[in-house]
Amino acid sequence: MKINGFELNYSEEQFADMIDKMRKIELIDKDFSGYKNLSDGDKKALEHLVEAAKILNDVALQQDHPLNLVMKQALEAAAAESKHAEKALKIFNSLNGVAGSNGLDKEPIEIFKGIKSYVGCNFYPTDMSVEEFHSILNKMLDAGKIGEVKKILSARTMVRRQDDELKGVDYTEFFADEFSEIANELECAAHYTTDELLKDYLGWQAQALLQNNVEMDILADKHWAKMQNTPLEFTLSRESYDDKMTPTIFGNKALAERLRSAGIEIVSKDMLGIRVGIVNKEGTDLLLKFKDEMSKLADYMPRAGEYEQNVGSGKELKQTMVDADIAALTGDYALCRGGITTAQNLPNKDKPALAHGGGRRNVYHRQVRASVDKTKLQKILDGLVAPELHKYYDKEFDHLFVIGHENGHSLGPDSSYQSALGIYQHIIEEHKADIISASMMPHYAADGIISLEDLHKIYTTWVVGRLFLVAYPADKEAHRVADLIEFNYLREHSAFWFDENKKFHIDFEKMASVTRKMLEDIIDVQLSKSPETAKKYIDRWTEWSDISKYIADFKINLGVKPYIDIVTYF
Ligand SMILES: [Zn+2]
Repeated sequence: MKINGFELNYSEEQFADMIDKMRKIELIDKDFSGYKNLSDGDKKALEHLVEAAKILNDVALQQDHPLNLVMKQALEAAAAESKHAEKALKIFNSLNGVAGSNGLDKEPIEIFKGIKSYVGCNFYPTDMSVEEFHSILNKMLDAGKIGEVKKILSARTMVRRQDDELKGVDYTEFFADEFSEIANELECAAHYTTDELLKDYLGWQAQALLQNNVEMDILADKHWAKMQNTPLEFTLSRESYDDKMTPTIFGNKALAERLRSAGIEIVSKDMLGIRVGIVNKEGTDLLLKFKDEMSKLADYMPRAGEYEQNVGSGKELKQTMVDADIAALTGDYALCRGGITTAQNLPNKDKPALAHGGGRRNVYHRQVRASVDKTKLQKILDGLVAPELHKYYDKEFDHLFVIGHENGHSLGPDSSYQSALGIYQHIIEEHKADIISASMMPHYAADGIISLEDLHKIYTTWVVGRLFLVAYPADKEAHRVADLIEFNYLREHSAFWFDENKKFHIDFEKMASVTRKMLEDIIDVQLSKSPETAKKYIDRWTEWSDISKYIADFKINLGVKPYIDIVTYF
């Protein structure tokens, strides 16, 4: 059957098979106790915030692909009459787009025959090659069009052709209709909420959506980052990982140098998302305990005296953190292409608020981490892990690892070292955060924040839960590449091993010393500021070994669920 002139790329059975491999993430509903405990004003505010989230999803769809909106509408219309289209729509909603990786297959999932995704998403003209992009930029620089090129390489513009050049259109203009509707919902929420800080922030955020003015983003971000004790959680996220066109400039040294000397920053485009939820007190208290340790941990960082850290001894950490019960995840959050995030620390280092004294805010997603397939987990343990370690696998301890990871982003060399690594920066930074988490855990244990038994649980759950990959990370997704590096490094240094029955064993003593050594290597890579050094390090540790293949095959045979269904009740 044809949808809007395009043939579906899979049969009804194939779509049904994908739907069988779908993991449900149930967000909160109105029966949830945390919701019932809200004041009437905050209940009303929450509904307006969810409304804003829904509108924003259409913005992200447009940023991702020029055909997303029309194809979604056509699928929804066809789904009323056709089971085939109904199933295709489910997969569309899981990817939140016409195409995307499922994190498993080498080739992306493409729902329609003939509709592929683009290197520059829909941020750039889809018929523009990397070569043409670079040559237009060079030509515009020749003509002295510095201001125009700045706009093209800004995080907040959609780039379109203009004659034989390019122009950057600010999001507030390109998405003026949607942004004004969202701003309206935020103003309503601000009116109803009982919390002064949230009210204040929502007011600034609404303004930031209406004005072509980076200063407003800075003000909104600064207010947002201060929210520690608000009853509600609301985030407008701006993540720049999807745009693969802008970072190609780092590979063109002559052009990158030209831009640098013209004072033009190369910033990838922001894909927008909205998260809405209710702050969970108990979970948040645990996070704050970990936070109290951080300034101490800064002193334990390798070569600590040689660089500025976000957190240092005597320095107050501008970092709030909350554990949230989630009511809505839309836009970038709902682009479930091989995964869904369990926590997020914003703003990212490319955002100006940080340079203007703003802090960061870290939010953990309770409903996302709560979704586990217990039967499958038992099969993995039985098939791949030595029996004496089974008692140490505990999903709640993955959460502690993630807390350590998120805190890890605030430690180590500052962002100038990170970005100097060009296209390798995200892999190395995520890798660093993982290994700060793993190598600092013994300090948390020494200070009584966790027990020794907890430490064993954290290590076991980390390796088995995260480092046992289901596929070689062919898409070079930063977290997965980091996982593979860690697996190989720990194994080669005998922190863990596999016996003749291919069962996993762990040396807890060595985990501490080997993760420490790994952290030293990573910090050396960041301090080198050399993309070549980073590449060499990554190449050295990303072999896809026989044991990795064995584990991947074993897990795939159990049935991997690479698709995600976010069930929203509001
Ligand atoms: Zn991270």
